[in-house]
Amino acid sequence: MEVTFDHVSKKYGDVLAVEDLNLKIAEGSLHFLLGPSGCGKTTTLRLLAGLESTTSGRILFGGKDVTSLPAAERGIGMVFQNYALWPHMTVAKNIDYGLGLKRLSRVQREQRLQEALELTQLTRLADRLPGQLSGGQQQRVALARALAIRPTVLLLDEPLSNLDAQLRLEMRDNISRIHRQTKITTVYVTHDQKEALSMGTEVSVLRAGRLIQSAPPRQLYHHPETPFIARFIGETNLVHATYRGDDDGHHLFECGFGHLLTKRPKQVLSPGQAVTLSFRPETISVQVDGAARPSVNPLRLVLEHLTYLGESEQLALRTSDQQILRANIFNPPEHDLQEGTVVVCNVDPEHILVLPVEHDLSSGT
Ligand code: ATP
Repeated sequence: MEVTFDHVSKKYGDVLAVEDLNLKIAEGSLHFLLGPSGCGKTTTLRLLAGLESTTSGRILFGGKDVTSLPAAERGIGMVFQNYALWPHMTVAKNIDYGLGLKRLSRVQREQRLQEALELTQLTRLADRLPGQLSGGQQQRVALARALAIRPTVLLLDEPLSNLDAQLRLEMRDNISRIHRQTKITTVYVTHDQKEALSMGTEVSVLRAGRLIQSAPPRQLYHHPETPFIARFIGETNLVHATYRGDDDGHHLFECGFGHLLTKRPKQVLSPGQAVTLSFRPETISVQVDGAARPSVNPLRLVLEHLTYLGESEQLALRTSDQQILRANIFNPPEHDLQEGTVVVCNVDPEHILVLPVEHDLSSGT
């Protein structure tokens, strides 16, 4: 079911939790709502479910206005981080409970139950009580219960936040598999960018109640529209700079530690314009052998700190104006770079993004 938010706002007293949200969630997508704490993710989910009413705007399911439709009539399945299982009921009874509220024959009901158990690989555990299950298994029961009613839309609110790191990875795979099998339109709330990038077909980033950008994961990572997104999705170096004009097919920017050339940005710039340049730590190449090679953006930086992680190394590098740039070397060759010494680096102009200036990067709300 396609879901549309059309100029939706939600106010709690003076707090504008969601501000003029315009968003289309495509049928069959696994759509992530991602953002820092308090940015309005859960409120958006609750508005979709009908658990909160909108202050203004409309919500449409497949073109039909459901803004004033009660939650029970929206056919939504929900999974919360605390599972909310009945402790005195077996796995099967917990899943079957929601089916009892639907008008189904006994045969249909049994069929739906078995389907949900199989999808979540719980058939073997159907007669256990929730207290006899691990956290991951309980989470799968909550998922099975939501799936059994064959929801129009499945909503997942931080479903993995109570699980340990290993189980999180397993459940990511489980949820992705179930989504591929069922193709149910799913909206997934998280503040974990790795979850969003690894599982989402589309990711919407919210900040302080506003939608900042909505795009498939790779596009969001490689083409963030604002410095906030560049920093929230992955790691990046942000450098204030001023546009100085063209130079041999490149754009020339002046920053606190010299000049940087970028490939032609999409936007039109006027000389003197302030911008933020963004480049990922993996796009700084470090000459570990110390040899200076011809390069468009040569940088001489002081190696402030080096963290060795086996498959990679993380470098903190100090510029002449005391900014710290971060570089990651993957599959690092053996070398003897010393902290406190100058290293020769290069940033490929292709990998420098030219973004607008954003003053307050710290606040999520
Ligand atoms: P988190 O990741 O911490 O769960 P979130 O992104 O889901 O945060 P919301 O729970 O949607 O954020 O809250 C958005 C804003 O609305 C916050 O400022 C929050 O304090 C406020 N808010 C949420 N629910 C209510 C409520 N029932 N009454 C008053 N303010 C609320």
